[in-house]
Amino acid sequence: MKLLVATNNKGKLKEFNEILGELGIECVSLKDMGITVDVEETGTTFLENALLKAKEIYKIAKIPTISDDSGLMVDALSGEPGVYSARYAGEPSDDNKNMDKLLSKLQGVTNRTARFKSVIAAVFSEEDILVSEGECEGVIIDEKRGDNGFGYDPIFYVEALSKTFAEMIDGEKNSLSHRGNAIRALKEQLALRMES
Ligand code: IMP
Repeated sequence: MKLLVATNNKGKLKEFNEILGELGIECVSLKDMGITVDVEETGTTFLENALLKAKEIYKIAKIPTISDDSGLMVDALSGEPGVYSARYAGEPSDDNKNMDKLLSKLQGVTNRTARFKSVIAAVFSEEDILVSEGECEGVIIDEKRGDNGFGYDPIFYVEALSKTFAEMIDGEKNSLSHRGNAIRALKEQLALRMES
């Protein structure tokens, strides 16, 4: 089976292929399909945004389409930046400015618990849609550590590996990340579908 992942991010596509490839599924990107449409994420939840994008792209591509929406939720800030993670410090999106804004809001705050959340929508037809979710717990540290990854990775510290996301090598992050967990949950649903 071929699945279109509504992204041009090579890292994301690789992660989808590594996990769903075990089921014999081939994931292709928007670029692979020659699609240049940019769907605006106007939803107020990760699910709304994931559905919005997957449904729009499905209408154009007419093959099963997956979209994921993710972000960081900080407990002491009532779940901020959430769906606004990419543009927390305004547009155009700037990872360093986003982290600096978050750290300034957390100055003097002792509760640093946070989690990344990812929601995936897989659209097979307008009526046939699968949804999966994944989370990863961590704490926000004041010092930016590590050079890998993107977004808030340098300040998101995971106790299980005693590293920030940015200090992890690819395999490590994927094995416990929100997106990895959401893709693995989707894989289980797809495996059941393929059996029946
Ligand atoms: P997207 O939905 O995957 O495009 O993610 C939206 C925003 O959430 C990104 O621009 C980042 O700011 C943040 N984000 C999502 N996943 C990660 C991650 O794995 N590490 C760091 N930041 C992330």
